[in-house]
Amino acid sequence: MKYIILSLGCAKNLVDSERFVAILKNYGFKEADEWKDADLILVNTCAFLHAALTELDDTLTAILQEIGDSPAKLLVTGCVMNRGLKTFLEKYPRVDSWIPLKDTAAFEEYLKSSVLPPDAGLTRKRLLQRTPLETEQHVYLRIADGCENYCTYCLIPSIRGKLVSVPIEDLVKEAKSLAKRGKELVLIAQDSCMYGTDIYGRKALPELIEALHKIKGFEWIRLMYLHPDHFELAWLPLWKKYPKLLPYFEIPIQHVSDRIIHAMNRQKGYAELKALFEAIKAEIPEAAFRTTLMLGYPGETRADRDLIDKFLSEVEIMHVGVFGYSPETKGNEWHYPEDWDWEQTRALEQELESKLNKQKTARMEALVGTIHRGMIVDYSPEMEALCARLWFQAPEIDGIVYLENRPIDDKLMVDIEITDALGDELWGMVTEEE
Ligand code: SF4
Repeated sequence: MKYIILSLGCAKNLVDSERFVAILKNYGFKEADEWKDADLILVNTCAFLHAALTELDDTLTAILQEIGDSPAKLLVTGCVMNRGLKTFLEKYPRVDSWIPLKDTAAFEEYLKSSVLPPDAGLTRKRLLQRTPLETEQHVYLRIADGCENYCTYCLIPSIRGKLVSVPIEDLVKEAKSLAKRGKELVLIAQDSCMYGTDIYGRKALPELIEALHKIKGFEWIRLMYLHPDHFELAWLPLWKKYPKLLPYFEIPIQHVSDRIIHAMNRQKGYAELKALFEAIKAEIPEAAFRTTLMLGYPGETRADRDLIDKFLSEVEIMHVGVFGYSPETKGNEWHYPEDWDWEQTRALEQELESKLNKQKTARMEALVGTIHRGMIVDYSPEMEALCARLWFQAPEIDGIVYLENRPIDDKLMVDIEITDALGDELWGMVTEEE
């Protein structure tokens, strides 16, 4: 039997998708190349924003057109189960089963009762944990799921529930099993700094990093989603002690105006955020920062936005993601809010993005001539070049480097001299001697 899986949303969702696919593989399913060949289609959904639910709506409509009157089983799971479900249930009666969020047991039950032939005679082998859906040298390790921060603009706590950390020994086991798949271990959670508080009664990121650092096979460990209110400066020695831990700090601040920050139910305002970035830089001079900023929060004024410009002129942040506030509503019914001024929000985003693009171009051009550690991750047929990521480029969000030459012995980890820059895209030469 053959399957197609569509994993929508973020890397945290991708981890669930990989678990669902591991179950399918365990029962002998193979991936279908074309819709017409699929016996089962699984859509793992994101429902974080209106935009995500609109994407889901479009995706399901497109799938129904593709499969026509095929008898393929169509299954939906993921975040939509906890936001907007009623609306989608009514609109898509063709869906054969709606599997609760992360409920691999329910998925397996459905396979056995409604998809697999009763006489298949399958015996379950030891359940594989995850089957890779990406093949670019990075593997995600979801160290916790859920969140209790209740930022006012975010529905994650109501969709994915309270923080649930995975015990260190389980994460070590999982990471060991992932080590064959890639050289970079990317730690993810909604708020990685709070890892362990639910199961150990304390922030346990240092113990976790110590345990993961011992695993052979990974060259890089990258920490994502470091909430500025929960990051501990006492952790900075970790970056000196553990060479695989990249000095890459993703700290999503969302805003810098004290008024807006507090309205968002977050704590650190302008001065504290600036002090945080400066303290990290003072201790770890090579630190590279990424953040996200939200524009158009209700009540935001030009003066609040000017503070963002001021902050970015005072603190050098290498990568900045910008997104517009969107008025989200909880519950089982979902409708796209036509009465919100989306154009105004988009205009704010574009204004900041264009300023940031100029800054980024200058910053990337300044890298020309410098040498950085990189990892070869892919080949681009269009560019006819190998692609690499430098240590300060996280997978999927921070751009790549196209290589003008090849490393000897097909090595994956190389030193790369930047030779040219075009926005997020860089060109470089592997510097090792042939
Ligand atoms: S910390 Fe992140 S996931 Fe948690 S409520 Fe705030 S924005 Fe949402």
